[in-house]
Amino acid sequence: MTNCLFCKIAKGAIPAVKVAETETLLAFLDIIPQAPTHILIIPKKHIPNNLALDPVDKEMVGEVYLLANKIAKEKGIDATGFRLVTNNGPDAGQAVFHLHFHLLGGRPMGWPPG
Ligand code: 5GP
Ligand code: ZN
Repeated sequence: MTNCLFCKIAKGAIPAVKVAETETLLAFLDIIPQAPTHILIIPKKHIPNNLALDPVDKEMVGEVYLLANKIAKEKGIDATGFRLVTNNGPDAGQAVFHLHFHLLGGRPMGWPPG
């Protein structure tokens, strides 16, 4: 997608602070962190959101969860706890329409979210 912010980040056309990269995924720091650790994990391929997932994406979604564990351990938030969140659509406040998973940790978080 030519006019997608996260596609541009995935291609390196817009800079981001990279945390991890695999063949299919990229993880980078959120520009407006909501917690001491706030990392976005995205597929390099353009997928608008969770609703747009296709059965061929099953393996990629599993890789997201495993990469989140790896990053959580590297950032030292595995024992204290972390949250992996995907906003989908207006009520969830999705602002960027390229599937992304927020990895949040480093402080206690309330539930339910506001
Ligand atoms: P959403 O509300 O769509 O789930 O989350 C979008 C996230 O992308 C927000 O947390 C926002 O701070 C982050 N974001 C928006 N623009 C940029 C950007 O240009 N660079 C980075 N690294 N993060 C961004
Ligand atoms: Zn995109």
